[in-house]
Amino acid sequence: MLEQYNSICITKVASSILNIMGLDIPESMDSPIDILAKLSDYKLNKEKADRVVIYNPDAVAMWLYQKYTHMFEKAICCSDVSLPMLSVMPSVTPVCFASMYSGVLPQIHGINTYIKPVLRVNTVFDTLLKAQKRVALVSTTNDSISMIFLERQMDYFIYDSVEEVNSKAIELIEKDEHDVIVIYNGNYDTTMHKHGTQAEASLEALKNNIDFYQKIVDKIKKCWSNHNTFYGFSPDHGCHDIDGNCGSHGLDMVEDMNVVHFYGFNSRTKFL
Ligand SMILES: [Zn+2]
Repeated sequence: MLEQYNSICITKVASSILNIMGLDIPESMDSPIDILAKLSDYKLNKEKADRVVIYNPDAVAMWLYQKYTHMFEKAICCSDVSLPMLSVMPSVTPVCFASMYSGVLPQIHGINTYIKPVLRVNTVFDTLLKAQKRVALVSTTNDSISMIFLERQMDYFIYDSVEEVNSKAIELIEKDEHDVIVIYNGNYDTTMHKHGTQAEASLEALKNNIDFYQKIVDKIKKCWSNHNTFYGFSPDHGCHDIDGNCGSHGLDMVEDMNVVHFYGFNSRTKFL
């Protein structure tokens, strides 16, 4: 079997967000994804985005998209593009999200293993805050995203359950008080670790992630017609099965390293 690693690294997400918003990109960060820059110009009529929502479902592997494509129908229909993306090593949550939002590899940001210290290197959040952008992070208690980006002048909404996280995320879009909103859901990851990557309960959790992404996009289209919005479905790493009907990740293998990202743009309504 041909084992092919994807070419676009998740370290390109940070600068892509800044570029699409028309902000300067720090030299430390990997360059933006060219395709997204071009698509942004096309979809936003060469304007910049003034709103960004990135949804981070944990552990949605590329192979899940390839094998269960029909399950992704809602994500496909509400996005402008799906991109094959490459994670970083070791492919575990804090390492990957640190890379995604700092734009640098693990050896530079310093989280090289499953630890969750507050990240001290520059992240996309620091650059956004310097540019006076209002940032909200909505996530579950003790999860990586809730911990490694702490101690910044942004709004943290940390809850015990995915349901509370998701209802707050929808409320924040309705309120329209933030320029950038990042939302984390770890329910597929938790379920697949326990029951295996393709167990009924795991696929149900994946379905819930895709359903919620569509809900976010619907809400953006309904509430933010006066904004140019860039939104994404951006998992951190993939997954594979191990003995005992359990799922795992963290290895340098295609199943763990290749992920699928979806991105879309919602252009503001123009009244001519
Ligand atoms: Zn993860």
